[in-house]
Order: sequence, then structure tokens, then C-alpha cells
Amino acid sequence: MNTNEAEKKEYLNFIHQIIEEDIKNGKHEGRVHTRFPPEPNGYLHIGHAKAICMNFNTAEKYNGLCNLRFDDTNPAKEEDEYVNSIKEDVHWLGFDWEDRLYYASNYFQQMYDFAIETIKKGKAYVCDLTPEEVREYHGTPTETGKNSPYRDRSVEENLDLFEKMKNGEFPNGSRTLRAKIDMASPNMNMRDPIMYRILHETHHNTGDKWNIYPMYDWAHGLEDSIEGVTHSLCTLEFEDHRPLYEWFLDNLDGVHRPQQIEFARLNLNYTVMSKRKLLELVQLGLVNGWDDPRMPTISGMRRRGYPAAAIRAFADKIGLAKRESTVDVALLEFCVREELNKLAERRMAVLNPVKVVITNYPEGQVEMMEAINNPEDESAGTREVPFSREIYIEKDDFMEVPAKKFFRLSPGNEVRLRYAYFITCTDVVKDENGEITEIHCTYDPATKGGDSPDGRRVKATMHWVSCEQAEKATIREYDRLFKIENPLGVADKDYTEFINEHSLDVVVNCYLEPDLKNFKPGQFIQFERLGYFIADLDSTDDNLIFNRTITLRDSWAKIQKQMRQAETERRAREKKAKKNQK
Ligand code: ATP
Ligand code: MG
Repeated sequence: MNTNEAEKKEYLNFIHQIIEEDIKNGKHEGRVHTRFPPEPNGYLHIGHAKAICMNFNTAEKYNGLCNLRFDDTNPAKEEDEYVNSIKEDVHWLGFDWEDRLYYASNYFQQMYDFAIETIKKGKAYVCDLTPEEVREYHGTPTETGKNSPYRDRSVEENLDLFEKMKNGEFPNGSRTLRAKIDMASPNMNMRDPIMYRILHETHHNTGDKWNIYPMYDWAHGLEDSIEGVTHSLCTLEFEDHRPLYEWFLDNLDGVHRPQQIEFARLNLNYTVMSKRKLLELVQLGLVNGWDDPRMPTISGMRRRGYPAAAIRAFADKIGLAKRESTVDVALLEFCVREELNKLAERRMAVLNPVKVVITNYPEGQVEMMEAINNPEDESAGTREVPFSREIYIEKDDFMEVPAKKFFRLSPGNEVRLRYAYFITCTDVVKDENGEITEIHCTYDPATKGGDSPDGRRVKATMHWVSCEQAEKATIREYDRLFKIENPLGVADKDYTEFINEHSLDVVVNCYLEPDLKNFKPGQFIQFERLGYFIADLDSTDDNLIFNRTITLRDSWAKIQKQMRQAETERRAREKKAKKNQK
């Protein structure tokens, strides 16, 4: 290996190393064929996004193919809604299965025929133990199992009973088809695992045709084999199932042999990820559906305003490993900000408004100010923003008695209005409760565009919206759904107790630059100085609704830093106090 090759090798993740070795050795004639195999029993989440990126990107890297396969072997839980959402999400992420959309349920007949072959070889038997007895005979990790009394049935009897199982002649749970492997195996998965169970259920694809349904371990390898998959990438919990995956295929003649490779699943802090938990959040009404912008689902992130490119970049950054770990959600948020900074057009919006009257500005005059749409992307061009005598600014941008280091608007202080003029505060008007209702200012006509010809400097630039032309809107301010890092990791507490009560704050009567009315869901926007936003799916012309995707700066990191600092100071004080005592 020359240095170039050595360098290249270093950058390959362990899966790509295996694949390159296989290609070199001519395994599978050098083909690479992967698949993404979701069970359609929920919406896809960011963990699935990792698996999607890995499978499709790996296929692309090696000029191979990647299938989308619905692993729909369980009739009870699957719904068309999930199938449709999964297809939409994979496409939205930027991947395409072309004409390779498959359903495991379309292989039921082939799987049945393979089961007959396995029975005929004396490698599978019909077992009459009840589910409780099966468990009892199974043994424990430290104790070997016991053979089923039905293990030595003749091939003829097994074939006859299995056919009757298929034809629906027995009730649910009365019999199973089991592989005849080894009840003493140290690997519990190899102790005569169940291949088929009886279930009198209607399946979304095959209807009432089947009264028996295959178990995951039996079905999955067959699905991979039938589709000609070469590298079957799955999460680590299947590592102990690999011998079984191989055993099933070993006992069939002339079938294609895929290779199962396991990788660590993605875990994220401040997040719960399992589909069961996500379904629970939806069912308990703790969120507003699977695509609630606080959910770690792909559809939730899309609605929140995360760009697909940010999710792909995140999947790339976390890489692939064989060891479980928890990724900091701040990394995902970093990827989102980085992508949005490039993609989002800038606009002005005032979320917590107070009126400013510019007393020396002509009444009834409206000037159109030129504003840059995206400083990161010249091709985004410019737009015109109306300016007039009355504008809104953020309440936070004014202090009647300015605190130390407060450089924004205060009596006597001059500031810049972005793309407009310098203004100086002259007066405030209050209501009977002492609340400020208007701030009076004067402007300097010579500073149009935001610069003063005499080189005068101001310390603050503020955003604003002209009152008359402003569009009213509702803003949904989203934040992390959980307020602690590991909501599932607190003993005796349910994770739902850790839901962040400020994960959604609804702010009404916000004022937007008029042009924002034309923004549709899917178009990214930065509200200057406030954060990234996107029109919500619920937004209409008469009722504008925008979601806050993420704040501009990482306020969480700042809070945490402050907390750490406070803790360090507290410790130092304690130490000093102790020292003084001595
Ligand atoms: P969950 O455990 O969240 O309910 P699952 O594994 O049951 O998910 P499937 O529909 O079976 O969901 O998953 C489809 C594919 O996505 C599988 O190959 C699985 O390995 C992968 N996958 C699921 N969760 C993650 C994750 N957190 N990180 C990486 N890959 C994942
Ligand atoms: Mg699964």
C-alpha cells in the first residue's frame, strides 16, 4: 500500500473498509447493494435519518443500489399513513430508491416455501408449547434450555401441521414453527427460535390470505437474500442475532448470501427516540402530532424549519462507529444554523413591539429602503422595505434609564435603524399605568441608508417595521422538548415529567415586514437579530403563523456556561470560607 492509499484508508469508516475489501476480493462480483428497511409502525426519526444516509450514501459511493423496503411482517401495527410518511421523508432527505420499493409481505409465499424446505431438511418443527411454556423451556443466560417434547416430530407430521397452521385450522398462540438448533447454546437466540406464529389478523397488503406470520429473524435475512442485498447494515442490538441470520440462510439451497454488519444507533441528549415513546407523546397529546416541530421526527424537523442538508451534514459529522454513545443535540443545532446561515433570506420582524414616532419625519411620506436579502449569497439580491413616520421596534431595544453597557435606544442616545436612518430619542409617552406607549425620536435625513456623512458613529443597529405596512402574525417559539439531558435515565420518574414547559411559547401580535406574507412553508428566513424562522403549515393569508426554528446564538450553551461559572465561583467561595475557619 502506498501512502496515498494508506491515507485514503484512514478516512474510511469501518463499514466502507469492509466493503472495499469485499470489492477487492470479488465478493458478490464486486456489487454493493444496501437497503433501508423501516417497519411502517411510526414516523421516521433522526436516528432513522442516520441509517438512511448511511445506506443510500454507501450505495452511491460504490456505484451500487439502495432499496426502500417496508418490513411489514407484523399485521397488527402497520398503517398506510406510516408508509406514506416514510416515503415522503426519505425523498425529502434527498434520496431516491428509483423503482426499488419493496414490501416484505410480498415475499410471504417465498418465505413459506423456504420454511417447507427447512422442515424437509429436518431443521424445523411444529411446537405445541404455549407461549408461557416456550419461555419456561427457554432457560436463562446462565442455565441451558430444555428440548421441547415436540422437537422430534417426523417431517411428514411437521409438514401436515404447518400447512394446517397456514390454513387457519388452529387458534392464535396454540402452535409455532421453530428452528431446530440447540437449546443449550450460550446464545439465547439460537435456542430453537420461533420462525412462525399463528395470527388471525388482516394484513394491510395481503388481507386475510395468511393465518401465520414470520418472525423478524427468520424474515429479515430472507428479504435481504431475495433482493440480492450484499451488505445488510443494521443496529448493534442485532449483533447476537447474526449467527441466526446466517444459520437460516446456511440451511437453504442456492440462495444469495448477504452479509450483516452492525453499527451503533444514534442517541441524542434532550431527546427520546424510540417509536414507542414518540407514539406515546402523540397519543397523550403532549405534542401536536408526529410532525409537531418539537418532535425528533424527520417530519417534525422539516416543519420546524431544519433544512434536509443540515440533517445530512449532521449524519456525516457523527460518523459511524461500533460503540454506543450519546451525541449532543447542540451538534445538530450547529449544523442547522450553519446551513440556514447560507440558505435563509434576511427579513425584519418585531416580536415584542413598541411604537416609535419620528417627530421630524413628514407625515404621510413612505420611502422604500433598499435591503440586502442574504449577505452570504449575493445572488439572493435586494428588496425594498417601506419606511415611514411611525415604526415598531422591540421593547427590549429601549430603556428609559439605560443600564450599564446598554447602547441601544434611550433618551438622548442615537442609534441606527437598519437600512434606514440614525434616530435619537427625545421623549417617551406613557399611559396611566406608567407603561410606555410611544417613544418619540428625531431622525437625521443625512444618514439615509444607515451611514452618516460626517463619520459620526453609533453603537447599535436595530431592526424595525413600518407600522402602516406591517403584517400582523403569530409566532410559535420552539425550544427543546425536554429540559434535562437524559429524560429516560431518572429512576422512579417518567420521562414525561421532564417536558420543557417553554418548548412552545405562542407570541401573538407580532409585526412583520410586508414581504413576509409571500413566504411559504419550506422557505427559510432569518428574522434579523432574532433567529431563523419558517412559515408553518397552518399559516394562511389571513392568519400568518411562523415557527421559530432556532435562535441565532446558542442560548443554551451560554446558560450552561453561566451555570458552570456560578458553580466554580460557589466552590471557590466555599473553599475560602473553610480556609478562613481554620
Ligand atoms: P425504534 O427503536 O426507534 O422504534 P426501530 O429500529 O424499531 O426504531 P425500524 O423501522 O425497524 O425502527 O428501523 C429501520 C432501520 O432504521 C433499521 O435498520 C434500524 O436499524 C435503523 N434505526 C432505527 N433507529 C435508529 C437509530 N437510533 N440510529 C440509527 N439507526 C436506526
Ligand atoms: Mg425495528
